[in-house]
Amino acid sequence: MGEGVRERVEQVRRRIAEAAGRAGRNPDDVELVAVTKTVAVSRIREARDAGVKVFGENRVQEARGKVALLRSLSLQWHLVGHLQTNKSKLAVELFDLVHSLDSVRLAASMDRHGAALGKQVRALVEVNLGGESGKSGIREVELLSLLQACRAFTHLTIEGLMTLPPFHRNPQDVRPFFRRLRVIRDQAAAAHPDSQLHHLSMGMSNDFEVAIEEGATLVRVGTAIFGERMPA
Ligand SMILES: *Cc1c(COP(=O)(O)O)cnc(C)c1O
Repeated sequence: MGEGVRERVEQVRRRIAEAAGRAGRNPDDVELVAVTKTVAVSRIREARDAGVKVFGENRVQEARGKVALLRSLSLQWHLVGHLQTNKSKLAVELFDLVHSLDSVRLAASMDRHGAALGKQVRALVEVNLGGESGKSGIREVELLSLLQACRAFTHLTIEGLMTLPPFHRNPQDVRPFFRRLRVIRDQAAAAHPDSQLHHLSMGMSNDFEVAIEEGATLVRVGTAIFGERMPA
């Protein structure tokens, strides 16, 4: 690991541009979310100095300290990990986008806290496409009813879908999950013409190029920028 954060950010950006090019897409339509769980604040600064604007955390408590320490940099923070309803107030305060909405109850809670803060809360619905138990996210068949229920919430905007597919060493094996997320997004958008489902959050260090080929607008990349994480 001779390279620093800056070189790796540049490498990831090049790979994003190449994948977008292969798919005939504009690389500017793919946002890099640098996932900084377990990563020290000094290295988050390095990524920011290399031009990264959006950072992802998977735990509300861990994010809280980092957001406070880096407040002067005006970074954008996304929550990419599971959110418990009892942490939704803090999440609404801290994050610009929550990728992991997975119940009407959580949506109602986020809407309520958004209203109290006078903030329009932005979220993606996490879909568990692999049907793996123990993983968060709604099942595909629950999507339309969740979106329907969320129409009642005036301070919550659902901006798209997120998935975290089963791990495969070969990224090509994950392609069907990414393709499926896009299909169900398109179907949901057709069923709710007034919706704003433009985002597809899919792809991580091992498979973000395949995800971009399949339409990802947000890729969540940790290891490829910051190196291997210490086991939690
Ligand atoms: C950790 C994490 C990532 C980043 O994973 P890498 O393989 O390190 O790129 C992306 N999404 C979620 C939800 C994560 O928890």
